[in-house]
Amino acid sequence: MSDRTIKVLQLYPRDMNIYGDSGNTLVLTQRIKWHGYTPELVSYNPGDKFPVDVDIVIGGGGQDSGQDKIQEDLLKIGDTLKQLAENGTPMLMICGLYQLFGKFFKTSDGHVIQGIGLFDIETHAGPERLIGNIITQSPDFGDIIGYENHSGQTFLGEGVSPLGTIIKGAGNNGQDDTEGARYKNVIGSYLHGSLLPKNPAIADFLIEKAAENK
Ligand code: GLN
Repeated sequence: MSDRTIKVLQLYPRDMNIYGDSGNTLVLTQRIKWHGYTPELVSYNPGDKFPVDVDIVIGGGGQDSGQDKIQEDLLKIGDTLKQLAENGTPMLMICGLYQLFGKFFKTSDGHVIQGIGLFDIETHAGPERLIGNIITQSPDFGDIIGYENHSGQTFLGEGVSPLGTIIKGAGNNGQDDTEGARYKNVIGSYLHGSLLPKNPAIADFLIEKAAENK
């Protein structure tokens, strides 16, 4: 692998990839090229061998049933993902995988899907789905726009920074005006749309961090 290769790992594209989240992969690989690097795209599904030398990790949203399917495997690779995050690997997790990068998601039928606890957040299904176009304001990226559709309401632990503040829409829980979470170079967000085509500054942030790490 040449030094100018940036290896993008997409987590669970088979089960966790809704409302256009695969657009994030397209934008990332295209912008990696525009920045003069060579993208290498690797998919990881349950049971696969976790690849080495990963530069960026991305993951999308999914139905509760999709989250159930990947839960066991995700818990197995949790320590590896957390180690990568500690080392500064940039990551973007949308909706269903954002929830499972937290401590757990308690679904509307009352069962608990465990997460890896990379973010100190917890998610409980609310009485109604939070659906619609959303605008948030982020200190790092300016206005972020997208589309949300989730039953889960996410609450941030003390000391967890949100990705942005709500201008329009529900975000993490429809109550505290926060959206998403940040830890080191890991971004979690409820925004589909897909996110990166509408907010290329976030794609460039992920690419920049990957290039710096190399
Ligand atoms: N199943 C989760 C929820 O409904 C995540 C949905 C999603 O990824 N859009 O909250």
